[in-house]
Amino acid sequence: MFNKYPKAIVYFLLTFSLPCSAQWQEFSYVAMTTPINLVFWQEDKQRAEIISQEVFKEFDRIEQQMSRYIESSELSIINRLAFKKEVIVSASLFSVLNSAMNISKLSQGAFDISFASVGFYYDFRKKLKPTDELIQQNLALFHYQNVLLDADKLSVSFAKKGILLDLGGIAKGYAIDQGVAILTKHGVTAAHLSAGGDMRLLGDKKGAPWIIGIKNPRDESKQSIVLPLSNTAVSTSGDYERFFMDEKGERIHHILSPKTGKPAKGLMSVTILASDAITSDGLSTAVFVLGVKDGLTLINSLNGIDAILIDEFGRVHYSEGLMRP
Ligand code: ADP
Ligand code: MG
Repeated sequence: MFNKYPKAIVYFLLTFSLPCSAQWQEFSYVAMTTPINLVFWQEDKQRAEIISQEVFKEFDRIEQQMSRYIESSELSIINRLAFKKEVIVSASLFSVLNSAMNISKLSQGAFDISFASVGFYYDFRKKLKPTDELIQQNLALFHYQNVLLDADKLSVSFAKKGILLDLGGIAKGYAIDQGVAILTKHGVTAAHLSAGGDMRLLGDKKGAPWIIGIKNPRDESKQSIVLPLSNTAVSTSGDYERFFMDEKGERIHHILSPKTGKPAKGLMSVTILASDAITSDGLSTAVFVLGVKDGLTLINSLNGIDAILIDEFGRVHYSEGLMRP
């Protein structure tokens, strides 16, 4: 068939029509004690390298600013000083605190970054949990209304002594949104960026959807549900991410209920689909605490947000937007 065309034209067509330079670029990193995976379509490998470094640097910046475990972080400064005085914070931290507060209000306090006032006494690596007495002594501090934000001053203060904030339920989502903003700024239109159980899909996989699996909560090597998705954020919160079994055989996991100060019961995993990852991340934790009934009521009341819940018996529940009409 090439005989019909002069050799030079055939060469030109082969050189410029084959996608030999454009390709999927893959990078991985570790930040916020989580593996970060980035895949995107970019013609130039060197440029892809530079873009990926900018994305990962942003994760590092956010960790340095928002980790409760880094003494010099702005969040640690808040935790040390906000009872004594109003602490003025950077605009980016304020915006995350503000989003956290909005999700607290939406979920009637199920999502609450002051959970750490009690969560501080759990150590999942050492398999330690607080006594009931210790929980009771601190439970009044686990209440988002004690955290006062002033949007004019960009300041934070605490209404009670002893409050501790932790952004573990929302910061990864924020970092992913920031990462996607960097990709978009560089003209990337197809990407998959994940940090543990949180991810965002930019565009699709060159004409086909991305295929995203929801893990079987009791066998992570298996997938319970597979979803074809594009242009969306997906977050899963599970009771299998950080946990230990106590002496009574109870699963002590990392998502705490503000009513009891103990791990929330009733669900094994919650997956949220939303347009941005700060929302999907915060809401996956919120719905996990709310449970099947209240969780689905909340999701069904919100536009453009869907959920897939796996309850304690392994039954799957979908929000209205995912069910057949
Ligand atoms: P991860 O992606 O790290 O598994 P999730 O989004 O599932 O996180 O949220 C769980 C994390 O949220 C916990 O490890 C803890 O840092 C934080 N957290 C626990 N309970 C609450 C709560 N009631 N409200 C807000 N954050 C919480
Ligand atoms: Mg979350």
